[in-house]
Amino acid sequence: MDTNEQLIAFCQEALRIPSYSGQEQGVAELMKRKMEEYGFDEVIIDRFGSVLGTINGKRPGKTVLMDGHIDTVDVIDAPQWEHDPFGGEIADGKIYGRGASDMKGSDCAMITAAARFAEKTGRDFAGRVCVSCTVHEERFEGVSSREITRLAKPDLVIIGEATSTTVKRGQRGRAEVVVETEGVSCHSSNPEKGVNAVYAMTAVIDEIRKIVPNEHPLLGKGILELTDIISQPYPGASVVPSLCRATFDRRTLVGEDEAVILGQVNEAIA
Ligand SMILES: [Zn+2]
Repeated sequence: MDTNEQLIAFCQEALRIPSYSGQEQGVAELMKRKMEEYGFDEVIIDRFGSVLGTINGKRPGKTVLMDGHIDTVDVIDAPQWEHDPFGGEIADGKIYGRGASDMKGSDCAMITAAARFAEKTGRDFAGRVCVSCTVHEERFEGVSSREITRLAKPDLVIIGEATSTTVKRGQRGRAEVVVETEGVSCHSSNPEKGVNAVYAMTAVIDEIRKIVPNEHPLLGKGILELTDIISQPYPGASVVPSLCRATFDRRTLVGEDEAVILGQVNEAIA
């Protein structure tokens, strides 16, 4: 079985292959190859491009899935990085790179852990251990992992997202709330002839920000955070915008369905 040095080298290799959402193929192939090298019983790449590896125990039992995503967010501030975002450099005992923490480090560790467990036990355990490396999590969270869940049918799932090396139980859900304001377009040299949709939106945002989020003892706050805003036409050269659209990221708690989420927003802006 591989050593810790080999695990570090594996992580560095994964970091040196850029894998923005939708461009994960190179890293997916690396993960598949490693699983095969480590003797996983079955390794597939599913229809979305996610990797799913399985190690079967000698006895029937439950399926444990260790799940991680292999895409990363973009590097938009490369000059500000002290280390090459795709260098996999080691400094002060840490590996640097885009996605080192979120979450290629964890992906590599989970693959290695599953392989070591299989070797240590001689596969004399009940059930199956699966490891998934999913795509497009940063843009479409949940889509590729749902497909993996359908394929692996796990009884238990361990997600390798960073939690400061502590165990966290459960996770908030996610919803997107889109709010639109309409105005009346006109030439911006005579704005009094129209209605500026963006000004209407700023008032709406002020009210939405006053919403007090529900709280759950384990999951924390059901936050609602503005993530983007755009006006139409865009760019609006000399035109008073007739439409403004704001998107909010809503992290949901147990029992918070569409009616609860939208009810809160509608009440705030009524
Ligand atoms: Zn992540």
